[in-house]
Amino acid sequence: MLSDFIARLPKAELHVHHVGSASPRIVSELAERHPGTVPSDPDELRRFFEFRDFAHFIEVYLAVVDLIRTPEDIRYLTHEVGREMATGQGLRYAELTCTPYTSVRPDRDDLGMPIEAYTEALEDARTAVERDFGLVLRWIYDIPGESGLPAADATLGYALDHRTDALVGFGLGGPEIGVPRPQFQPHFDAARAAGLHSVPHAGETTGPETVWHALRLLGAERVGHGTSSAQDASLLAHLAETGIPLEVCPSSNIATRAVARLEEHPIRAFRDAGVTITVNSDDPPMFNTTLNREYEIAADLLDLDESGVADLARTAVRVSFAEDAVKTRVLAEIDAYAANG
Ligand SMILES: [Zn+2]
Repeated sequence: MLSDFIARLPKAELHVHHVGSASPRIVSELAERHPGTVPSDPDELRRFFEFRDFAHFIEVYLAVVDLIRTPEDIRYLTHEVGREMATGQGLRYAELTCTPYTSVRPDRDDLGMPIEAYTEALEDARTAVERDFGLVLRWIYDIPGESGLPAADATLGYALDHRTDALVGFGLGGPEIGVPRPQFQPHFDAARAAGLHSVPHAGETTGPETVWHALRLLGAERVGHGTSSAQDASLLAHLAETGIPLEVCPSSNIATRAVARLEEHPIRAFRDAGVTITVNSDDPPMFNTTLNREYEIAADLLDLDESGVADLARTAVRVSFAEDAVKTRVLAEIDAYAANG
């Protein structure tokens, strides 16, 4: 069965959100620590998580954000996300997109933790995850676009003034509509000048011009989603020529209605145009999916066999920002697995 092959295939994931990876099991523990808005009973919690629509996703997401109040919560969340990635999804390497702004909350006196405490908790958990589960974690800090320029200024400050060796990228998330990309050019310029890789979301819910902005103004080295690139042949040609990968998250695109039906997902058009594709899960429990499931969907849409699926996994490793030793090790693991099953 291809699904068995996928489940045990060593993998790397490049587009997955820290808070958005909190499973019902993790949220239940956090809800017990901080009783109130979110049920801690597992059955009630599963119902709370059942995806209804985009507005409901935001509601769940913000409720989980609200449960992460202390550095110990950050440690717990990160360690347990790492456990589930390594033991459930065959992950050997992941770039987790973190949004420090929503934990530090410089806009609120009554909420938040100092960035120093946030960073220390992340790093403690990263070390523990690598030790306990053999999973290498790296960070991407993203600007929550809906919070505008103050959040962009703050996030840049966290990235540059409180940098850890594990921070590899600088991103931009949140809604695209009403949040023009060009305003963040100075932040991306500064982050790139400091050696961080540029990985903004673009073209998920807006047209191809947003992807062009991400490429030309923000210096994108990979594009989060890039779904609407399929509407612009010259953009597809540009992506193919430059080798700039798209981080494709099929179930997320369906859940947020960026794409109406899986059969209409442009992943085939990307492949046919020669664009480099990686497959990712985005906010898996909130979109009712897993990375394994996303690989199954991609295999189905692209008509891939075991060797095609192994190639997808290899691509993610190659276009990751892992150091060479990690890339070499995980690629060797994939090769050995693909050869022996
Ligand atoms: Zn995302």
